[in-house]
Amino acid sequence: MSLPENLPLFDKIAEHMLDVMYFDLFRYIVTASVMFAIIVIFKGWAERRRIQERRAKREDYLREISSSIRTVFFFGITTLSTLFLREAGIIRFHFDSFPIAIMLLQAVAMILAHDTYFYWMHRALHTRALYQATHLHHHKSRTPTPWTAYSFSVWEAIAEAAFVPLYLLATSLLGVAYIGMAILVFIWFQIIRNVMGHAGVEVMPAGWVDNKWVGWINTTTHHDLHHSTFNHNFGLYFTWWDRWMGTEHPQYKERFRAVAKPLVVSPRLAEKLSVVMMAGLASTVTLSGGLASMVA
Ligand SMILES: [Zn+2]
Ligand SMILES: [Zn+2]
Repeated sequence: MSLPENLPLFDKIAEHMLDVMYFDLFRYIVTASVMFAIIVIFKGWAERRRIQERRAKREDYLREISSSIRTVFFFGITTLSTLFLREAGIIRFHFDSFPIAIMLLQAVAMILAHDTYFYWMHRALHTRALYQATHLHHHKSRTPTPWTAYSFSVWEAIAEAAFVPLYLLATSLLGVAYIGMAILVFIWFQIIRNVMGHAGVEVMPAGWVDNKWVGWINTTTHHDLHHSTFNHNFGLYFTWWDRWMGTEHPQYKERFRAVAKPLVVSPRLAEKLSVVMMAGLASTVTLSGGLASMVA
């Protein structure tokens, strides 16, 4: 980001705040809407895989969406601070050309670091001293919905948002100039996994938890159990920390097996799938065409 030299600091902040807030809000709305649409369009599939019998109420949706918008404001402040720290030369990342392998390696390192940060921050927010003031708001959603993803109190929003600048500050101090695309991959991965974890219906295929290649990747049931039971499953992307620290729900695998029924493709489901895939393809082609014309 390059800032015009002649703008006073306040104007620079005001001008770029809207841009970064739009970017964060866009990711939340697009990801939560796509998940919500999948649940509505494939109602039969979703109902067979619903994790809780209890349903979220209208006031839950309103609280989740309004507090997620407030969270976007705090994410925006953090994004802007990160960009200003980059202008000041304190945080280092770039958008120059890059080898794909290094970019992917950096994105994976950031995801692993965030998984660790989240687990321990989450454990801290569950302590008696912090819970009421910070994390209680997120747990008002006893039955999560895709819109729960950013439903945080102000203090939790700040703690959640702090990861990116802290991580980039640490890597900059170690002399690593991060590739901007790796940060973007991480940011999209984070919101997609966050929305999947709060979907309320299990999205992973049957047999996931019993497969040695993928069983260590968290499912929707994993985080849903955290919302319904409070004292287990603090992890975000992977099951490792909960297993190492003995905090995994004892019936996690059983609950997953009960809810993740194998996919039965009826003619009606096949019809819906082909329509959704064609619509997805058409939007991708239109978006790519729009982007290509913007770049040209
Ligand atoms: Zn919690
Ligand atoms: Zn949650």
